[in-house]
Amino acid sequence: MQQPFISLDDIRAAAARIAGQILRTPMTQSASLGELAGVPVHLKLEHQQTTGSFKLRGASNAILSLTPAERASGVVAASTGNHGRALAHAAKMQGAVATICMSRLVPENKVAEIRRLGADVRIVGNSQDEAQDEVDRLVADKGKIMVPPFDHPSVIAGQGTLGLEIMEQVPEADTVLVPLSGGGLAAGVAAAVKGLRPKTRVIGLTMERGAAMKASLDAGHPVQVEELPSLADSLGGGIGLHNALTFAMCRDLLDDVILLTEDEIAAGIRNAYAAEREILEGAGAVGIAALLSGRVTSAGPIVAILSGRNIDMGLHRRIVNGASGAPAEVAA
Ligand SMILES: *Cc1c(COP(=O)(O)O)cnc(C)c1O
Repeated sequence: MQQPFISLDDIRAAAARIAGQILRTPMTQSASLGELAGVPVHLKLEHQQTTGSFKLRGASNAILSLTPAERASGVVAASTGNHGRALAHAAKMQGAVATICMSRLVPENKVAEIRRLGADVRIVGNSQDEAQDEVDRLVADKGKIMVPPFDHPSVIAGQGTLGLEIMEQVPEADTVLVPLSGGGLAAGVAAAVKGLRPKTRVIGLTMERGAAMKASLDAGHPVQVEELPSLADSLGGGIGLHNALTFAMCRDLLDDVILLTEDEIAAGIRNAYAAEREILEGAGAVGIAALLSGRVTSAGPIVAILSGRNIDMGLHRRIVNGASGAPAEVAA
């Protein structure tokens, strides 16, 4: 195995840097999932993090790692989802300006949410690509600092602090289940976990529909996949054909990747609500979904990361009331 690009020391430094900015989220044990798996199952309740996802860790570390001059220039990103929310909040906490670029197609409630968090919102073009072009322009013309959602050393180290917490809370963890999209979370968590306890297995979980990292790992290099709507919308999007860090780290550090169907993800959301009394978005529920599917085997304790809770509440209600994961059933 090659040395990971982000070291345990980088992650420890990130933890010290962001300690006052993020919550140390609780770890609970699930009796019903433990019974099913035959080993203790612990749930890392990271959906309870400020802004509703772990993304605040990476965004906070990235902003706190800037020089004062860079911070004064302001940060910019094109995410309308959890990264955008996290970056807006983290920038506000540091007295910096975050500019979030989004396309005209982004629903008004998402725009309002990011504005409410204090960001300067720019609506440009009709696609995510055009929003990204505006980001590139602001970097080139205005000297703004781009903070990407996953493929960046400070972001990966920040997400890795979740791995440190997990190993403090469950030092004997044998298997850690990590939601996987661009791989910032999985790369950071795996670097922390394997740095502390090399024999612990780290498994990435993602949806069958449009799994870019899985397709890239299978191909041996970053590839593009068709994007399809999924209940796990936070797991959508590509990994970047010029991926610098997360592809290689996931290739070197992940023990396995499990793909989940839309019905399995719906079952995960439903079980989290009924059995654990937790409201999760699809991406946050893939750990529970994988355990329910019976496809995770482990000789010892399992930790599942519940990564986010930002789901439309109408959609959540339909799923809890029994809608399958089929797009027609979950559509409003
Ligand atoms: C971003 C996100 C993920 C995936 O993280 P990556 O670093 O892109 O792999 C998983 N769950 C939630 C809730 C997210 O917002």
